[in-house]
Amino acid sequence: MVMELGHGCRVWDNEGNEYVDAFAGIAVNSLGYNHPVLVKAISEQAAKLMHCSNLYYTEIQVKALRVVAEVTGMDRIFFANCGAEGNEGAMKLARKYGVSKAPTKYKIISADESFHGRTFDTLAATGHDYYHVGYGPLSPGHVLVPYGDIKALEAQMDDDVCAVLLEPIQGEGGVHVPPAEYLQQVRALCDKHDALLIFDEVQTGVARTGKWFAYMHSGVKPDILTFAKGIGGGFPVAGFAVPERLAHVFKPGDHGGTFGGNPLACAAVYATLTTIKSEGLVDKVAEKGEYFKNELRTLQEKYPDKVTDVRGCGLMLGMEVAGEGKPIVESCLENHVIVNCTAGNVIRIVPPLIISKEEIDIVVAALDKALAAC
Ligand SMILES: *Cc1c(COP(=O)(O)O)cnc(C)c1O
Repeated sequence: MVMELGHGCRVWDNEGNEYVDAFAGIAVNSLGYNHPVLVKAISEQAAKLMHCSNLYYTEIQVKALRVVAEVTGMDRIFFANCGAEGNEGAMKLARKYGVSKAPTKYKIISADESFHGRTFDTLAATGHDYYHVGYGPLSPGHVLVPYGDIKALEAQMDDDVCAVLLEPIQGEGGVHVPPAEYLQQVRALCDKHDALLIFDEVQTGVARTGKWFAYMHSGVKPDILTFAKGIGGGFPVAGFAVPERLAHVFKPGDHGGTFGGNPLACAAVYATLTTIKSEGLVDKVAEKGEYFKNELRTLQEKYPDKVTDVRGCGLMLGMEVAGEGKPIVESCLENHVIVNCTAGNVIRIVPPLIISKEEIDIVVAALDKALAAC
C-alpha cells in the first residue's frame, strides 16, 4: 500500500482508495492529518527559521517549553527527536543521579512486555526477546520484572537501583492496564530506595488516555516523564520532563543533540498542544473513548468466543481476540478501515484525538464484519 494524502481521520492511497484511520500513524497524528493550525505553524516557521544551533534561544522554543511544562505538570524540559532518544536521556539523567550518590547505584528496572525503543540502552530496557535477539550482549545494568506484579519488583529493589522505568499503560505489549494501586506501590518502593520513577508516556501521553498524561489518572507523579509520538502532531519530536530539583543533575553540555528542540519541531509542539487545549480535546477524548470502549464491549458480548477482552483508557484501546489478530486487521483494511494488531492477538485502536462518533461507528462496523467472518 502506498499512502498519498491525509485529511482529518482519513487517508488515501495512490489509487484513490479512502480509509478511516484508527491507528494515526502509531498514535502520532493527534490532530489528524493536515490540521490547518499545524500546517500553518510549520510552514510559517520553515519560512522564518528552520534550524539554528542550540547555542542560541529561539522564541518559539520558549513558547513550546512553557506549554509542555504546563501540560506535563513539570518544570524543566529536554527536547529530543524520537521516543527512544527521550528515554535514553531520561535513563542517563537517572544514572547520573544514582552514580553521584554511590558508584554502584546504576541499576534500572523495567517490565516484561514493555517497549521503550530500539537504541542499545532502550533495547535493554525493553522486555521482549523478539527485539533483543541478534544483537549480541545488551547494555548492562538492566533488570526486567513482570508488569503489574509489585512483589516481583520488591524482590529486585535495593539501594543500587537508580530508576524504575514503566509505561503507565503498556502499548506495544498489548494495551495492558496495571492493577489499581500498582503505580502507588511502585512509587512507594522508589521513595524507599531513593530511585527515580520514570514514566514512559511516549504512547499514553498528550491527551491519548483522556488526561493530558496517563499518570494523572493514578495521581502518581513520576520523577521523569518522557514524551514523543503525539506531541508534534506528526512532526518528529520528543523529550523528557523533570521537576526543578532534578534539572541540575545535568550541567550544561552533559547531554544534548544537534536537532533536538529545533524551531520547526517547537512550532509543531506549540501548535499541537495549544490546539488540543483550545478544542477541549482532553475531555472529548475521555468521552469518545468511553463510547468507543462500550461499542467494543458490545462486540465482545456478540462474539464471546472470539473477543476475550476489551481494555484501555480514552482513545488507547485494545480488543484481545482468541485467534490471530492479523486476519481482522486485513478484513478491516478491505473495508477501508485501518486498525493495528500488537502482541499477536490484540487489536490496538489509537485513532486521531479528533475522531468523530460517526467515524468510530465506521470502525466498529468494520470490526463487526471482520469478527463475523473469522
Ligand atoms: C513508540 C514508543 C517508543 C519509541 O519511540 P520512537 O519514536 O519509535 O523511538 C518508546 N516508548 C513507547 C511506550 C512507545 O510506544
